[in-house]
Amino acid sequence: MITIQGKGVSTGVGVGPLYFYRRATTELKRYTVTDTDAEWHRFKGAQTAAIEQLGKLADKAREEAGDEAAMLFETHQMMAEDMDYEEAIEGMINEGVNAEAAVADTAEQFAAMFSAMDDSYMQARAADVKDVSDRILSILSGAVQGGIDSEVPVLLAADDLAPSETIQLDKSKILGFVTSKGSGSSHTAILARILGIPAIVGLGDSLKPEYEGRSVIADGGTGAVVIDPDDETRDRLLKKRDEQLRLQRLLETLKGQPNITKDGKSVRIFCNIGGPEDVHAVQVNDGGGIGLFRSEFLYLNAKTYPTEQEQYEAYKKVLEDMDGKEVIIRTCDIGADKQIDYFELPHEENPALGMRALRISLSRPDFFRTQLRALYRASAYGKLGIMFPMVTSVWEIREAKKLCEEVKADLHANGIPYSEDVQIGVMIETPAAAIMSDRLAKEVDFFSCGTNDLTQYTLACDRQNNDLGRFYNPHHPAVLRLLKMVTDNAHKNGIWVGICGELGADLELTETFLAMGIDELSVSPRAVLPLRNAVRMTDTRENGPKILASLEDDFTPHV
Ligand code: PEP
Ligand code: MG
Repeated sequence: MITIQGKGVSTGVGVGPLYFYRRATTELKRYTVTDTDAEWHRFKGAQTAAIEQLGKLADKAREEAGDEAAMLFETHQMMAEDMDYEEAIEGMINEGVNAEAAVADTAEQFAAMFSAMDDSYMQARAADVKDVSDRILSILSGAVQGGIDSEVPVLLAADDLAPSETIQLDKSKILGFVTSKGSGSSHTAILARILGIPAIVGLGDSLKPEYEGRSVIADGGTGAVVIDPDDETRDRLLKKRDEQLRLQRLLETLKGQPNITKDGKSVRIFCNIGGPEDVHAVQVNDGGGIGLFRSEFLYLNAKTYPTEQEQYEAYKKVLEDMDGKEVIIRTCDIGADKQIDYFELPHEENPALGMRALRISLSRPDFFRTQLRALYRASAYGKLGIMFPMVTSVWEIREAKKLCEEVKADLHANGIPYSEDVQIGVMIETPAAAIMSDRLAKEVDFFSCGTNDLTQYTLACDRQNNDLGRFYNPHHPAVLRLLKMVTDNAHKNGIWVGICGELGADLELTETFLAMGIDELSVSPRAVLPLRNAVRMTDTRENGPKILASLEDDFTPHV
């Protein structure tokens, strides 16, 4: 038995024979051309064909794996006609280099440039530029694509797999991916996660060609790949696989089922997203709505302030794709750990206690107005809620609402449609907001508790500092007592309350939240079905009163 260790990037256990991906290898031709014009046109023909092929792959990816996967190929289409890339190739062809050599050399240059970047995401783009170039090269040379030539399903091994190679594979033949190179943000990893196939990357030289055909178990959870497992290891990992499959099947049966406890209490399970590309995951996992759209990702992914139109299009897309289900978008939460150069925020000693989120929005009304206009314009296309992050005082909410009214009045005056039914909410992320929740509840339609920050600010513990370990304890009775207080204040004032921090998906606390009467839990899409399962297994009559009493006593089971 041999065990080699890589990085597990997509969970699940794959068991089967190891098979190395066959790649069509053609020797790169190098020669001098005299008719550079004709050679350029030969390149342009191959480029156009590649873009067309990528369009078809994007359609296939959209069908099999959703918008996020399709976007990979749309990005490749853009890369294939990137001006710098094209100019580099044109320059070489004009010097008499044949198209194949010009494409291959340009790909090497661009890949080296990406690999040298600090950012791991940008480094992973080196594989993309090679993938696009290989496609153009195979069209130029008339080569056929590689694949799996096996009758039985296999664990597919490779040095690395390009996204286009991954999406073209017959998925019924793949039990898992194991690669020498690659990272958690490589596209093989992204696609494997979307498709729910176990994947282990970064095995390096320990993944040897001589293992081909041997019996292998790959554990995407731990990153271990076991070749010729002994009986004990095989039994243990097969048990793990069966348990995961059993759970997976159980969770599948929960799709379409209500989130209701044994004693008839229901809770809404919504999802947290970062942009329109995440909506597919919400739908696949049967999320009831979107409880937190972190709008700052639009800003983080841009080089300068996204325009009103750009924001409007992103919000509208999410609202339309959610087809009438509730979508709560929180206004920009920049500052603290999310810094953006173009915001030109002055250096702060304690950014988590500084210019952050709503504080920036209220200090820069024009910036805020742009986002609010985009939000209200989009509201005409679905059921929108808007919530404000990092609130401490009632006046902040009044000021934010006043700006909302101004924006609506302006849209009305200009005949631009918007919805009059937009719910307004406060994120409860600071002890001040929790303590003032009786007053804040009179100003808004709902509360959403951001427990990541609420824990940080209540316990005076930096959420970014891993060394704080057990001191950063979201189960701390101080945090739970605040949540109970906020829930009671919300209900006394007839508004609903949710949790959108990581704690919402913490199954150890599901019973506690249900006992408190939390109305909505907003979690990452993959956490929806496990949470639904936990809700449906709960009977709040059993331990509910004890749990609530323990929050009042000195004793608490959660300290
Ligand atoms: C939170 O603080 O719990 C929250 C949901 O917001 P973020 O994690 O984006 O700060
Ligand atoms: Mg927060």
